[in-house]
Amino acid sequence: MLARARPELAAFRAYVSARGSGVDAPIRLNANESPWAGNGVSEGWNRYPEPQPSALRERLAALYGVARDRLWIGRGSDEAIDLLLRGFCRAGRDNIVTSSPTFGMYRVGAQLQGALYRELPLDENADFALDPEALLALTDADTKLVVVCSPNNPTGTLHHDALEFLAERLDGRALLVVDEAYIEFAGVPSAVALIDRHENIAVLRTLSKAHALASARIGALIAQADIAAFIGRIAAPYPLPSPCVELALNALDANALHVAEARIATLVAERSRVERSLASLSGVVRVWPSSANFLLARFDDAAAAHERAMRAGIVVRDVSNAAGLENCLRITIGAREENDALLGALRRTPALAVTRVHSARPLEACESAAPGVGGAP
Ligand SMILES: *Cc1c(COP(=O)(O)O)cnc(C)c1O
Repeated sequence: MLARARPELAAFRAYVSARGSGVDAPIRLNANESPWAGNGVSEGWNRYPEPQPSALRERLAALYGVARDRLWIGRGSDEAIDLLLRGFCRAGRDNIVTSSPTFGMYRVGAQLQGALYRELPLDENADFALDPEALLALTDADTKLVVVCSPNNPTGTLHHDALEFLAERLDGRALLVVDEAYIEFAGVPSAVALIDRHENIAVLRTLSKAHALASARIGALIAQADIAAFIGRIAAPYPLPSPCVELALNALDANALHVAEARIATLVAERSRVERSLASLSGVVRVWPSSANFLLARFDDAAAAHERAMRAGIVVRDVSNAAGLENCLRITIGAREENDALLGALRRTPALAVTRVHSARPLEACESAAPGVGGAP
């Protein structure tokens, strides 16, 4: 698959950092670091980190059940998305193919790289199911990446059934990138198991969601070893700050993994409860089934529902501007009391009568009229 990367990068020589050179000794005078650790920092943090810290590699390889050389760890899966686009797509020529609605960073990364962006609209009336043939129909000789987010953000839809078929049909042509940011909530096996049989699959994993570590920015790309190594070559020399690596190691010890597992179970149970409660509210038109830690819901008037939540001190994601998601909000599943607070805020207003009036008005009028809505009993 590496043959499909940008040809001008074939002979690309990565920057050789002091720590990445493989040459080391007890007295380090090769990286212009301070010989002393600073105030409040751990031993060794005055030094540049290992480019891919071995302890973290080992832990993540075990967690994901993959060989260490198939793993590249970066600053969240966002960085892996960016580097895949940069490494594979010739600006102004190559394209990436994905579905819509989906995670916004694929488009952002494509735009930054000058890659062309093609999207297959998913049908809300088919629960946003992915038709793999229709997705393939968007590919051509200049397609380098086909991105499937599964479970998909913001719809919550699982697309894992389509993956093996897509990988087969894209064999030798394009890399199938499977974004599994929410896989822990889906109860299905990861696509990493497919990499043995299909060398054109790359899987993105993250510690940001199920492992409760969004602030540390740790994500991983899992692919055939030559692709993982290639992404490492084009990445920044020291992508992983030592304090973040320490936090990640803490999040991956046996006890923390146990806690994470219990929390995932709690969130999955809450997802069912919130889904049922939401669906029963007047003013809620539809709640789609979700395999992630959020729900996509359509309201009579999403702006009014958003405003009501805000008045109760709760922010949810307004995705109503995305094509096909008119009047939709994406609601993260929180702790039980947070979910109850949201359901209470949405229940309190006699929604049908009030929101119908507002939905007929332009946004400006709706916003300025909102205080009256919140004040209603
Ligand atoms: C949150 C999210 C990410 C970003 O993960 P990071 O590892 O925090 O960069 C990637 N993909 C999808 C679909 C997401 O929703």
